[in-house]
Amino acid sequence: MGIRVLVVEDEEEIADFLVRGLREEGYTVEHVSDGESAEHALAKSEWDLALLDWSLPDLDGLTVLRRHRASGGDVPVLFLTAKDSVFDRVRGLDAGADDYVCKPFAFEELLARIRALVRRPRNSGVTTISYQDIKVDLATHRVERSAKPIELTLKEQALLVFFLRHPNEVLTRMRIYEHVWDERYDGTSNTLEVHVMELRRKLEAKGSRLIHTLRGRGYLFGEPPGGVSEGAGS
Ligand code: CA
Repeated sequence: MGIRVLVVEDEEEIADFLVRGLREEGYTVEHVSDGESAEHALAKSEWDLALLDWSLPDLDGLTVLRRHRASGGDVPVLFLTAKDSVFDRVRGLDAGADDYVCKPFAFEELLARIRALVRRPRNSGVTTISYQDIKVDLATHRVERSAKPIELTLKEQALLVFFLRHPNEVLTRMRIYEHVWDERYDGTSNTLEVHVMELRRKLEAKGSRLIHTLRGRGYLFGEPPGGVSEGAGS
């Protein structure tokens, strides 16, 4: 089977142009025209790449991408959108897009970017994500630390997966919240804090502290910030 590309685009003319053009280049292409279908297609099948439009009739592309990433999906995604502000580009890339091309675009450039993305090595077939003694199996939702199972809710697991994908990185509350809860962070809700507390309780009962609170900045998962060790055994 060739390289499989999912095209998510609601404008028929652009969709036809992309599907035809990519097939001529030898790609195996499927097309869906709304966000919900895109979400299902991403979840149920293997793709080498998704070309994702932002403005769609139901779920927008940003939401589709956030949900895909929050559930552990790792399909490379290229946003193909008329939204060309720096603000939108940053939002798109922060949501987990691998590349971003603004409409109108030159097909040759799009092809070059697609080639670059599908050349990147991917963890094909690998469904676990781990850090030190923590392991999450994205397919079975099994979470363990030091080979002992930990029971997490789906939200706690999504939060943990987000941390695992960004180890030793300062993560603002807004960034975490908008990824995991898929909503705008209004700065007042304490939902995130409550979930972090629960996740810590379950995760760190079996080992050293991993989720560090950076006052006024957010959270950091991994090595204690500033190289200062915390907790036992270090
Ligand atoms: Ca559109």
